[in-house]
Amino acid sequence: MDLQQIRKDFPILNQQVNGKPLVYLDNAATTQKPLAVIQRISDYYLKENSNVHRGVHHLSQVATEAYENARGYIAKYIHAEESNEIIFTRGTTESINLLANVLSPWIQAGDEIIISGMEHHSNLVPWQQLCERNKARLKVLPVDLDGTLDLNFLEKMLTPQVKLLAIAHISNVLGTVNPVKEIVRIAHNKGVPVLLDGAQGIAHAKVDVQDLGVDFYAFSGHKIYAPMGIGVLYGRFTWLRRLPPYQFGGEMIDQVSFEKTTFNELPYKYEAGTPNVAGALGLEAALHYVQKTGVDDIFNHEDKLLKYATEKLENIDGMRIIGHAKEKAAVLSFLVNGLHPFDLGTLLDQMGIAVRTGHHCAQPLMDFYGIPGTVRASFAMYNTLEEVDIFVDAVKKAVGMLQ
Ligand code: PLP
Repeated sequence: MDLQQIRKDFPILNQQVNGKPLVYLDNAATTQKPLAVIQRISDYYLKENSNVHRGVHHLSQVATEAYENARGYIAKYIHAEESNEIIFTRGTTESINLLANVLSPWIQAGDEIIISGMEHHSNLVPWQQLCERNKARLKVLPVDLDGTLDLNFLEKMLTPQVKLLAIAHISNVLGTVNPVKEIVRIAHNKGVPVLLDGAQGIAHAKVDVQDLGVDFYAFSGHKIYAPMGIGVLYGRFTWLRRLPPYQFGGEMIDQVSFEKTTFNELPYKYEAGTPNVAGALGLEAALHYVQKTGVDDIFNHEDKLLKYATEKLENIDGMRIIGHAKEKAAVLSFLVNGLHPFDLGTLLDQMGIAVRTGHHCAQPLMDFYGIPGTVRASFAMYNTLEEVDIFVDAVKKAVGMLQ
């Protein structure tokens, strides 16, 4: 991997913040975008912009073809069986809300939905609200102190009332890479479908939906170098075909009269209104960039950064790293003594370092650890070992100033 070239491909990284070179370690919140992505969006608006589908004119056909090609590329990237299984959404949150909405008629009073104790609010609140509305029960698979899930316990929780298991592929707080293939297998043995929240998974793991056997997979483009406002709900054709539409209006219909409406086929049934065409092309360009750079090389590099940073942070007095799973992705949450994460984050910002502080949209997980939040450094392909050095020195300095 040519790290120098990669950094050139992300011009935003080359800037000073508070008089110091920017060290961007907030990648779990959002990643920066390479020129290839920025250029693709710009080209679309410079040369191809038009509303998609149904247009007879040239630009509409160009835009439609580009949009549908993007869907096809994304389907191949996650190894979906067909491109009809790729529903474009605004992101993970919308993908999960879409699913919670269309599964609603299927969830009856007394039914159960299982999530885990490490879920992002996006994979918690939609299910909680659905359960509340339909008088169903939300059950939570506990996390242990290391940040892993107990699969034996999961087996016991999978009673005949369970209608869905919704679980993170990778935790955005702990970095835990959950054994999702095994989880899917266990759930399917009991006839329970599985949604994986792949917001972090898409960026830090190989995603092969057929190999995983998963029923639904949700992710956001912006976590993998694509623009904000585009994401995907993957759903198995056999599921999506059976489920009702989500939003109603243009694009998603077949025939409309004042008396009755019939709906379009997949995937359009789930894409009401004018879609984010530029976003879809940006996502295609981002995935292409990742593939061209080399998925394995990226993951190896991120792993090196994670291990190096963990080892160096552990040498700081009073350091408490949250999340010690054996399988861990490039997300590193920590606290130092009694220092408030916000104070540490503010001092790091003054030294040009971008980290995230707070509960990371996982308040129940914070309650479990009995902490107000953490400082979180998260790595991407463009981060360097030198940046880790700068970051760790800055943490030491900040701790010294605050104590
Ligand atoms: N799930 C996880 C694990 C996440 O990390 C995030 C974003 O941080 C989300 C869901 C929500 O993603 P988005 O805000 O892009 O919809």
